[in-house]
Amino acid sequence: MVSQAGIDAFRSGLRGELIDLQSPNYNVARKVHNGMIDRRPRLIVRCADVADVIAAVNFGRDQKMLVSVRGGGHNAAGLSVCDDGLVIDLSLIKYVRVDAKKKTVVAGGGSLWGDVDHATHAFGLAVPSGIISTTGVGGLTLGGGLGHLTRHCGLSIDNLLAVDMVLADGRFVTASAKENPDLFWAVRGGGGNFGVVTAFTFKAHDVKIDYAGPILYPLEDAAEVLRWWSKFIVKAPTDLNGFFAFLTVPPGPPFPEHLHLKKMCGVVWCYAGPLKKAEQVFKPIRAFKKPALDLVGPIPHPVLQGMFDPLYPAGLQWYWKADFVRELGDEAIALNVKHGAQLPTMLSTMHLYPIDGAAGRVKANATPWAYRDAKWAQVIVGVDPDPAKKQVITSWAKD
Ligand SMILES: Cc1cc2nc3c(=O)[nH]c(=O)nc-3n(C[C@H](O)[C@H](O)[C@H](O)COP(=O)(O)OP(=O)(O)OC[C@H]3O[C@@H](n4cnc5c(N)ncnc54)[C@H](O)[C@@H]3O)c2cc1C
Repeated sequence: MVSQAGIDAFRSGLRGELIDLQSPNYNVARKVHNGMIDRRPRLIVRCADVADVIAAVNFGRDQKMLVSVRGGGHNAAGLSVCDDGLVIDLSLIKYVRVDAKKKTVVAGGGSLWGDVDHATHAFGLAVPSGIISTTGVGGLTLGGGLGHLTRHCGLSIDNLLAVDMVLADGRFVTASAKENPDLFWAVRGGGGNFGVVTAFTFKAHDVKIDYAGPILYPLEDAAEVLRWWSKFIVKAPTDLNGFFAFLTVPPGPPFPEHLHLKKMCGVVWCYAGPLKKAEQVFKPIRAFKKPALDLVGPIPHPVLQGMFDPLYPAGLQWYWKADFVRELGDEAIALNVKHGAQLPTMLSTMHLYPIDGAAGRVKANATPWAYRDAKWAQVIVGVDPDPAKKQVITSWAKD
């Protein structure tokens, strides 16, 4: 049992906010991105700074409480929120500092990728992240981090230079190639198991305007597209990324009305090389087959990063399956086509992200991220706003 006096003393020493079962914002503060997650922590501490994080770690340890750490709250299984324990919520530790000369970026432990994209774009720079800008820098980086720039610049962890973190005993340390190198190895793919990261330092790249967007094909062509794309992408220049998707066309602009709510397949491309070469790079893609829709063109990097955000606001029901793939043989393609044609709801989707190129060049034991020999990362997600669809999206994803 945690005593009220102990809680009061903890609260009085904080710059941030301590939320308990009686707080008016308790039910909002315990929610995470996945609406299927419904956990009831005993306390949620919104830390304002590193001192608050140290106090929270010490309090949780001394009181023998179960502790979870919340970055952006996107983890599908809801790992950032725990029943009856203490949530260390980093959402107030949100800042980004760009050093344009050194091409480095420091992001607070509770920052979102959209914050980073916004800050770096002003300097013509970008850090490799994911494909949705509301995802947390914390969880995505500690788990690896793959997205539109993976082939060009590597995973997020391949661009991580240092972390500041609070360890379970309350000590504050920096980990980098020079300082605490074993800890630095562990955080690059080992997840949130080693402490609370209060700041991430990344290497940034010259990426400002991409030549990017989706190219869509009829579902009937899915096997042919998958076969062609899987052979093409692994040989393509590494400044070109393209992930395959089964999807349902959203019923609104920029999609033409005749395609609205149609199940289709396609590739979401991102060319991050010199714009003057873009048309040339896309020649073989456009020569492969006439698509049903080609929305590829010049686009500011943060706009690409936020392109899917409106489709996937917080609070939807999500059921995820994910794995890494070395080969896409005929049998696998046939199974993907079969289940891809049965997307159970408009927001459900399957993506295959390339993880070769710069990500594939990093040595297998350089980080704990153990999939360097795979060619693709696959996610299968059943998604819908309606909790009554839980069963249908879950069983489709499992099938
Ligand atoms: C809509 C959506 C799109 C996604 N797209 C991509 C994608 O394109 N590429 C990709 O690689 N992944 C993607 N993911 C997966 C995502 O990277 C993971 O779910 C990740 O865990 C989310 O990080 P977060 O900080 O938002 O999550 P949280 O739920 O807050 O945290 C996830 C885990 O990391 C820990 N953690 C978070 N921050 C810290 C910190 N500062 N210090 C210590 N531990 C911390 C938490 O304790 C928890 O264990 C996506 C997820 C969603 C929901």
